[in-house]
Amino acid sequence: MSRDAAEAECIYVASRRREGREDGPPAGSRDDQTTGNAHPVAALVERATDLVEPIKPQLRGWLHAGMVPASLIAGIVLICLARTPQAVVACAVYSVTAWMLFATSAIYHRGTWGPLGEALLRRLDHANIFLIIAGTCTPLAVLLLPPGQRSVLLWIVWAGALAGIAFRVLWVGAPRWLYTPCYLALGWAPVRYLPDFLHAGGAAVLTLIVVGGLLYSAGAVVYALKRPDPSPQWFGFHEVFHALTVAAFTAHYIAISLVTY
Ligand SMILES: [Zn+2]
Repeated sequence: MSRDAAEAECIYVASRRREGREDGPPAGSRDDQTTGNAHPVAALVERATDLVEPIKPQLRGWLHAGMVPASLIAGIVLICLARTPQAVVACAVYSVTAWMLFATSAIYHRGTWGPLGEALLRRLDHANIFLIIAGTCTPLAVLLLPPGQRSVLLWIVWAGALAGIAFRVLWVGAPRWLYTPCYLALGWAPVRYLPDFLHAGGAAVLTLIVVGGLLYSAGAVVYALKRPDPSPQWFGFHEVFHALTVAAFTAHYIAISLVTY
């Protein structure tokens, strides 16, 4: 079979899977998880899955579209109520990363952009995940940690975020099983600072931070497994993932609000 024919077949298989007509595990999960290496055909299927979107659930993108004005207002409130110049800057960084995340996602998911636009928006969408992780850590580090620890955490999350973005941009075809754990690794990098967050912020703040982290992580697992997929026509696995990100963002926003004003 020629490479073109193989690619065409993979695109067809991927589209059939997306439409729920093809049995078998989600693309990119079987070979990748058992062998640790992407089979060339599996990699093509993964690529084709990225390229082909025969059915977008009707509600794709609406949750994040609703979060665009909500996160803008929430961000402005946070910045206005911050009590020190440092807190203002930290809250502004956090608010901008949040707004970019939801706005890019809403634009990407609600529209039809053609292959080039889709590819560009998808990279931006994924880069924003690294940015929201670093953005969320920024006010927590600034408001809850002493200067030495604050600098270390900010270096870790921002260097990690930039490295993650470079990885996603430079290796555009990276398989889902490889890049999803990168988000989890960066997201849980600040875990050793949790006792400091408890000490400075109290039990409620710590609980909200951990609950938010667990909700984001649950979203990552749903995204990686492509399950549960309650209604491929209306509200599929990707919508479950988006719902979990909204819940996680809300938990973290409350935690940051509690320590900001
Ligand atoms: Zn999405």
